[in-house]
Amino acid sequence: MVSDTMCNGFERETAAMVSDVTQDTVELLQTLIRNECVNDGTAESGHETRNADVLQTYVERSGVDIERWEPTPGRASFVARLPGTDPDAPSLCLMGHTDVVPVNVDGWSNDPFGGELIRNADGYDEVWGRGAVDMLNLTSSMAVVFRSLVDRGFRPKGDLLYFAVADEEAGSAHGARWVADEHPDAIRCDYVLTENGGLHYGPEGHRTISVNVGEKGVAWRRIRVRGTPGHGSMPFGSDNALVTAAKVVSRLADYRPPPRFHELWRGQVEALGFDDEMTAALLDEDAIDDLLDDLPHAGAKGHFHACTHTTFAPNVVSTVGRPKTNVIPDVVDLDIDIRTMPGDHTDEVAAHLRTALGDDLYDRIEIEILMDDPASMSRIDTPLWDSLQRAIGVPFPDARLNPQFIGGFTDSRVFRELGAVAYGAGLFSPMIDPADFGLRFHGHDERIDVESLRLTTELWERVVLDLLG
Ligand SMILES: [Zn+2]
Repeated sequence: MVSDTMCNGFERETAAMVSDVTQDTVELLQTLIRNECVNDGTAESGHETRNADVLQTYVERSGVDIERWEPTPGRASFVARLPGTDPDAPSLCLMGHTDVVPVNVDGWSNDPFGGELIRNADGYDEVWGRGAVDMLNLTSSMAVVFRSLVDRGFRPKGDLLYFAVADEEAGSAHGARWVADEHPDAIRCDYVLTENGGLHYGPEGHRTISVNVGEKGVAWRRIRVRGTPGHGSMPFGSDNALVTAAKVVSRLADYRPPPRFHELWRGQVEALGFDDEMTAALLDEDAIDDLLDDLPHAGAKGHFHACTHTTFAPNVVSTVGRPKTNVIPDVVDLDIDIRTMPGDHTDEVAAHLRTALGDDLYDRIEIEILMDDPASMSRIDTPLWDSLQRAIGVPFPDARLNPQFIGGFTDSRVFRELGAVAYGAGLFSPMIDPADFGLRFHGHDERIDVESLRLTTELWERVVLDLLG
C-alpha cells in the first residue's frame, strides 16, 4: 500500500502491495458473504461464529492478543490487540460487525450469498452479496489492514484493536452490548472507526465526504393492551383488545411531535445545495412540517422528517395466547419502533406516548422497554478527525469531511457510552451516487465495486499510520 502518510518510515511500499491488499479485501469479503451469517433477530440466528473463525484465523499472529467470547451459542465475537509502545498514547479500535440482515431472494439479480465478482455495464468489477455494503466490506478491509500492518512490523504508539462483533443488526444484545457490559476493559479505547461514511457529495472541486458522527436514539417499546375474552359470535358491546390496539396504532400514526434541530442540521442542509427557499424552510422549525407535508418524493420526505423529529412506527402486532377466529382476544401486544432526537430520554418518550395516545388510552396500557439507548454524538475537534481529513485528502485533495447525524443505529453508540470518540467512515469511489447507494443497505442487489474496496482499505491504513504511527 502507499506510504505517503507514514510517519515512522518503517516500510517503503510498492504499487504491487496496493493491489495485493485490495485483492485480500476482495477475497475476504467474498468468504464472509458466503458464510451467510443472517441475523433475523432471534437468538438462534446469526451464526457469526463462522465469520469470527475466518477473521480470527486471518488476523491471529505472534504479538497479537486475542480475546473471544460466545455469549450465545453460535454468536462469537473477538477482539485482536496489537499493543502500543506508549501506554499513555491514545488507542484506536477498528470495529466491524459480522452479521447481515435477511434477504428476499426473489428481488435479487444474482445469488445473494454467492460472493461473486461480476463486471457491470460500465466495466467495473463488483462483489455481489448480502453484506457487501453493510458492512462486511468494512469488516474485511479493516482485518486486511490490521494484518498487513502486523506483518510489516508496525509498532503503534497506542494500542491498535480490531473488533469483529456479532449481532449489530438486531440491537447488539449478543454482541457489542454484551461485551461492553461484561468485559468493558477488553474493548475500551479512545477512538473507534466503524460504519458508515465515505459517500461523495457536491461537485468536483467542492467535494464533501460523509462521516457519521452521531445517531438517533433507539427506544423500542412493547405496548400491552388488555381486554375481556369472549365469543366471536357476540361482539356487540365487547371489550376486544385488538379493537383497542387498533386505536393505539392509529393515534400513533397520526401523532405529529414538534421538530427539533440538532447541532449538525444546518451544515447537513447547506451541503445539499437546495435553492434558498427550500433551504430556509428546512431550517425553520415553524415551516419545516408544512414543507414535508408537500414534498412529493417519499424517500426525501421520510428522511428529512426522521432527521428532525422523534419518530414512532407501530410495526408488530401479536395476539398473546393462541389467536382464534371465534375468540375475542383479551391481550394484544404492539411493538413500536421509536427513534429519538437528542434530549428525548426515557421520561420524554413516556411523555410523547401520553400525548400521542391521550390519557384515556395511555392509562389503560402497559409499556415494556425493549431497547432504551439515547441519541449519541461524538465531537469533531479530535486528532482522529484530523487524521481522517488528511487521509481522505490524499486521493481527493479537494474534499472536506462532512459530519452526519444519522437516523439508524450502529455499535458506535455502545462505544460512545464507554467514553470513546466513534465515527462511521469508509471511502467509496466518486462514481457512486449517494441516493442510489442508500437503497443497497438492507435492499436487493447489494454490491460493492472493487475501486471502493481499494479506497477504503487504503483509508484505514493511512488513518492508523497517521494517528498511531
Ligand atoms: Zn451495519
